[in-house]
Amino acid sequence: MTAPPPYRGRFAPSPTGPLHFGSLIAAVGSYLDARHRHGRWFVRMEDLDPPREMPGAADRILRSLEAHGLTWDDSVLYQSQRHEAYAAALDTLKKSGSLFCCSCTRAVLGPGGHCGRRCSPKPGEATSERVVVAGGGTFDDFILGPQEGANAGDAVLRRKDGLFAYALAVVVDDAYQAISHVLRGQDLLGETSGQIELFERLNQTPPGYGHLPLLCDRRGHKLSKQTGARALDDHQPLANLRSALHYLGQGAAQAEAGSVEELLAIAIAHWQRQPLIDNAGRPLPHHDGIPR
Ligand code: GLU
Repeated sequence: MTAPPPYRGRFAPSPTGPLHFGSLIAAVGSYLDARHRHGRWFVRMEDLDPPREMPGAADRILRSLEAHGLTWDDSVLYQSQRHEAYAAALDTLKKSGSLFCCSCTRAVLGPGGHCGRRCSPKPGEATSERVVVAGGGTFDDFILGPQEGANAGDAVLRRKDGLFAYALAVVVDDAYQAISHVLRGQDLLGETSGQIELFERLNQTPPGYGHLPLLCDRRGHKLSKQTGARALDDHQPLANLRSALHYLGQGAAQAEAGSVEELLAIAIAHWQRQPLIDNAGRPLPHHDGIPR
């Protein structure tokens, strides 16, 4: 029997704004899961989309992680430095015939809509590059249990403006960094089976996936930079960490600890993967994002 691959986890923020309480939960969850299993934990800056980024946010996120004691292994991987690898992966897919050019607009397809090779781009027209998704894959989420994959369709890997898309870069870099476990927010649950398929197309082994319930405001909207989530106050890391642990259902939230290091050591030792779902399948508990 071969030994399982060593645990390698990651936190992969997009620098569209400073770290907020919702992203702290993903960071803390993936950090504790990795450290509890004596694994390595990496930070990857997903700075692929300059028009959506906020100047200085990448550094601010890193300082926030440090203030909360979430120290990473190796140096940070910046996706803005990885364009050659993404171009090479597109080339591989092109050669295998699973890529096609598409001139459809979002207005025609709707968000996340599929083209299905129905359009016929005119010469010189701006096109995105899409990969065919066979769909139907299932996977075992290590937080949520067995999951049905998305249906067949296609996904944009390179946008019309020439920028590489998240759907491509995340797979290329999870493979490059040999990530074995991805623990992230449930907003990406619907992307997972497509990502697993892309790993297979690129002859790579996919990691295992776990998805944490999203932090929502009182109206049930995901707390995000786009919905105006407040930046974390880096001057009260202990209180922020306690709130994150409480949300993650960890008994360590109540532990007596006088420092961030002490609290994290207790949280690592006692980490448990929790589904945090009530009987009706709703995330627990609702939180307005104000650490208490
Ligand atoms: N960069 C993504 C975000 O900030 C996360 C991607 C991932 O964890 O796969 O939402």
